[in-house]
Amino acid sequence: MNLFLAMMSHETNTFSNVPTDRAQFEAHDLRYGGEIIETYRGTGTCLGGMIEAAERCGAVLLPSVAAAASPAGLVTRDIYQHVKDRLLSDLAVAGRLDGVLLDLHGAMVPEGLDDGEGDLIAAVRRAVGPSVPIAVTLDFHGNLTQAMVEGADLLHGYKTYPHVDMAERGVEAGARLAEVIAGRLRPTAAFRKPPLLPPLGSQGTARGPMRRLYDLAEEMEKDPAVISISIFAGFPLADIPEAGLGIYVVTNDDPALAESLAERLSRLSWEHRREFTHTALPVPDAVAAALAADGRPIVLADMADNTGGGAAGDGTEILRELLRVRARSAVVACLWDPAAVAACVKAGVGSRITLDVGGKVDGRHGAPLTVTGVVRTLSDGRFIHKGPMMRGLPGRLGPTAVLDVDDVKVILTTHRKQALDPEMIRFVGIDPLEEKILVIKSTIHYRAAFEPIAKEIIEVDAPGLSSSNLERFAFTRVRRPIFPLDPEATYP
Ligand SMILES: [Zn+2]
Repeated sequence: MNLFLAMMSHETNTFSNVPTDRAQFEAHDLRYGGEIIETYRGTGTCLGGMIEAAERCGAVLLPSVAAAASPAGLVTRDIYQHVKDRLLSDLAVAGRLDGVLLDLHGAMVPEGLDDGEGDLIAAVRRAVGPSVPIAVTLDFHGNLTQAMVEGADLLHGYKTYPHVDMAERGVEAGARLAEVIAGRLRPTAAFRKPPLLPPLGSQGTARGPMRRLYDLAEEMEKDPAVISISIFAGFPLADIPEAGLGIYVVTNDDPALAESLAERLSRLSWEHRREFTHTALPVPDAVAAALAADGRPIVLADMADNTGGGAAGDGTEILRELLRVRARSAVVACLWDPAAVAACVKAGVGSRITLDVGGKVDGRHGAPLTVTGVVRTLSDGRFIHKGPMMRGLPGRLGPTAVLDVDDVKVILTTHRKQALDPEMIRFVGIDPLEEKILVIKSTIHYRAAFEPIAKEIIEVDAPGLSSSNLERFAFTRVRRPIFPLDPEATYP
């Protein structure tokens, strides 16, 4: 059995002015051929799961291209076309193929296209023809579209946020694809897009409305006629017509069942739409609450400055307040500021310097902050994920400095990356358990690894492009009416 394998992953925040160009992919991940297998085998990723499934059933994998970049603004035409061309040229010389495995995101917006994944899947479908099955994994934040559903035989969305089931979904996609190839499954899919745009902060699957939906989906999946159900919370900050919640049900040769289950889940999501509203504490209140809390560490979640949601990662408002109230024993993980890192490198470890940090990308994450501190450590920014997400996968923050400003330790990085793993604090020589306050720039993902170690978690409503307060954004393209932008929207 010959299986073609490729990955392209990007979550595009169309409100961001940071273009996602080739350099952003090179800084994160841009690999070809056999290197993909070497890098991802055994990791907690979709590719890791796909490789495991393929090897389990003795398939021959034909790895093509793997491209991923930190969420930011539109993916430039140049890099999108490069990856697509590479994928199609590898397909053209692949010889006889039995199936295709694609690890995609679902909320990628290349320049001039609303639906990057729909376009990629359609291109692969044209290349392989109607009879070669295509199985695709998609992020929980994918904005499901008709083109994705029509182009692929199987879609497998992550069922968790934090995304701790990526490898599981990869295994599932590989195993189901093998069954389709063997003629044991005949996928028939249905999907629904209720007029619902859940903010990121209320999308967690541990509790709340997404848990309710997945509890019902798990019951439905016990029916052997159901192959898989994916409920995509969607990525609200990709301002495209099809942004928002999406429900996908794939059954074995039973289209009527798929339709009825999808409709039932869609109606349930709508009935509980008000549970998707989210509130967080203003910055001064949140910092005061952290200082007053017992024990350590107390996590201040900077939800709106999550690079994993396309925010700059250089927001200063919580740091500004920590310094204003003279907080001690605090860490900011992490602040993206290559110029500040360069200044620290130039000064050297142990030097006392004054510089501007953060607030440099746009006017939406607070103004730059002038600080004086001591360069505590410098590193090359390489670490290994050790938490429940992406365990085993190497991470690269680029040259990284820790600036100690009166015991508020600011981790300054050269690459943009969400602080979702305590290892991103440990590898620079700081023990997160010993600190009073951890400012974590992440919306939900940090919970997988930080909930078990945090004495308390406080969600902060600081400014930023991954804010769950959707009133902060001027939407122009998403279909209307849609809840909660239009509170009186009705179910179609
Ligand atoms: Zn996601």
